[in-house]
Amino acid sequence: MTNFRKIAASKRIAMVAHDNRKTELMDWARANRAQLAKNELYATGTTGRLLEELLEQPVIRLLSGPLGGDQQVGSMIAEERIDLLIFFWDPMSAQPHDPDVKALLRLCVVWNIPVASNRATADYLFTSPLVNEDYIAEQIDYSKYLNRIV
Ligand code: PGA
Repeated sequence: MTNFRKIAASKRIAMVAHDNRKTELMDWARANRAQLAKNELYATGTTGRLLEELLEQPVIRLLSGPLGGDQQVGSMIAEERIDLLIFFWDPMSAQPHDPDVKALLRLCVVWNIPVASNRATADYLFTSPLVNEDYIAEQIDYSKYLNRIV
């Protein structure tokens, strides 16, 4: 049995950038300001503050990443409250919250959430016609797992 969930044309987008990649994310956000304005934005604490200053658009700010913000985004994904993630993580430095980073990326796969970790992928996502349309996302069927005999 396949489950589906309907993603509305206006998306709930979460954005996260590690410190060494915040400038890159802000550059991308500046270039995509008009498209971002059509959506509801969420971000981890510091990323959200910078985005709000840059875009002059409300951004729902969660905790800073190392203080639990990544986990908040992950739990929102699991509750079907986030439709798309832009996550510019730093491949060159260890983060104090590495396990949270891994957990967040894992939940994107579990819940079939589009995720961009670099500018090229973010550009591809944002130039897809699907970003402005309703989208029927296939949801992986976990009933076998949920009904397993334990
Ligand atoms: P920040 O968190 O936006 O509060 O800097 C990002 C992160 O490190 O996950």
